[in-house]
Amino acid sequence: CGIVGVLGEHEAAPILVEALKRLEYRGYDSAGIATVNGAALDRRRAVGKLVNLGDLLVHDPLPGKAGIGHTRWATHGAPTVGNAHPHKAGPVAVVHNGIIENYRDLRAELAEHGLAAETETDTETVALLAQHFLQQGLPPVDAAFRAIDKLHGAFALAFLFEGEEDLIVAARKGSPLAVGHGDGEMYVGSDAIALAPLTDRITYLEEGDRAVVTRRSLEIRNDEGTRVERAVRTIRAEA
Ligand code: GLU
Repeated sequence: CGIVGVLGEHEAAPILVEALKRLEYRGYDSAGIATVNGAALDRRRAVGKLVNLGDLLVHDPLPGKAGIGHTRWATHGAPTVGNAHPHKAGPVAVVHNGIIENYRDLRAELAEHGLAAETETDTETVALLAQHFLQQGLPPVDAAFRAIDKLHGAFALAFLFEGEEDLIVAARKGSPLAVGHGDGEMYVGSDAIALAPLTDRITYLEEGDRAVVTRRSLEIRNDEGTRVERAVRTIRAEA
């Protein structure tokens, strides 16, 4: 339902939770965040209100300056901790808004490669696909792009990778996604409102776009793989 991401200079967890709070108005049943800290890719998830995730983080902090977060409105799989995003498959974590229509077929293909689903969600399939392409030797960006190529349905996605503290791969098809430009920081949000306290400089992804985001760069390709330019807009600051 809501996606946020940060490649920052400060601890990511509080920034992600604050940004998710700004998306609460959209409704959700569970929430979670993942960060990369050195090599480690880890996550925390909780059912119910964001305050539950906040409490969990007090007792079990999640260090790291790069991260992604999600508020979920379950479409496939009950609203449980196990089905909450981010979904993780080996060295990849994924947050997703929307529906992957061909997830059953993809899941069957992945099972043949020994990658078994552990949740009831359509989203986990995306993480497993990326893991599969990493195992085939592709670098993270290519593995994410290949995974995206196989998806039918509506999605906004953000990928985070173990050992990659300066990379978020994002994609948009049928569900909005924006990239926010900071000073030596970059942000991702399904809604510019989520990013309003962080920056007023926003690049809206267009249908089919895939973005490679680092702290100092934003490279966007369309769904044919062609490099495209998207404007940086200054949006009106709001309270
Ligand atoms: N289809 C995904 C799920 O049920 C994403 C739902 C959402 O957009 O929050 O987990």
